Amino acid sequence: MTSSAAAPLAGKTALVTGSTSGIGLGIATALAQAGANLVLNGFGDATVIQGAIAQIEQHGVKAVHHGADMSKSAEIEAMIAFVIEQFGSVDVLVNNAGIQHVATIDTFPVDKWNAIIAINLSSAFHTMRVALPKMRDNGWGRVINVASAHGLVGSVGKSAYVAAKHGIVGLTKVAALENARTGVTVNAICPGFVLTPLVQKQIDDIATRDNISPDAARSKLLGEKQPSEQFVTPEQIGKLAVFLCSEGADEMRGAALQIDGGWTSQ
Ligand code: NAD
Repeated sequence: MTSSAAAPLAGKTALVTGSTSGIGLGIATALAQAGANLVLNGFGDATVIQGAIAQIEQHGVKAVHHGADMSKSAEIEAMIAFVIEQFGSVDVLVNNAGIQHVATIDTFPVDKWNAIIAINLSSAFHTMRVALPKMRDNGWGRVINVASAHGLVGSVGKSAYVAAKHGIVGLTKVAALENARTGVTVNAICPGFVLTPLVQKQIDDIATRDNISPDAARSKLLGEKQPSEQFVTPEQIGKLAVFLCSEGADEMRGAALQIDGGWTSQ
């Protein structure tokens, strides 16, 4: 397939980490709609993963899954090698896998801190350090790091997450600068609340803690932070990712793009 207006990413291969659910699956779907072959990554039962592959392949592209654990550098290296062997290159790399844990610093479990820093931050260092050289050799590449509104501002109880997301915004800038004279761009997307399993757990925890209904907990979570009082959707984030892969974004380098219902404009 050659590239066209309808399929601008035809012939390219995208790897989206943490794409068996939520935002990652939304970005993978949008990239497939734009014509890219997809390597999905993330946990989940085999039937759910097969369903995600089938959903992606409906767009006439090839999709496979690699189950690398993003907290393990050797597995990340093996995944990048797998993509290059299967498809020839990683043209679009989306660092999206992430987890959350909410507790104040003095009660924050050390193992949760280590896991959040590894999965939400260090994994992007490992994917980039292995994938960037070949992107540069090819003369074109796109890295999109899924940060968060929490990459720009803090919130009580989210020390590890906020540290990791501020870290990935900084890492994005350095990677963009190191590749500024190449065809490889590196940018971050900073979403506000998106209704995915990661956020549903926080809603459930608020409902239990405050003894309120799930609806009231959802309104409370949004009302505290997101002026629009609407969730951002994975589809909207997917469209932004496709734009970042377009020619129009050739000179966007090191940006941290808010898509957050106004959260960080307050
Ligand atoms: P989600 O829980 O729906 O999806 C997380 C994905 O990461 C899943 O595919 C999961 O299997 C995968 N994953 C988790 N641990 C992994 C590991 N060790 N190795 C490989 N894969 C792993 O969450 P989501 O809300 O879609 O979050 C995706 C990204 O978006 C995260 O980086 C998150 O911080 C960020 N984000 C989410 C929101 C939100 O409101 N949901 C807002 C801003 C940023």
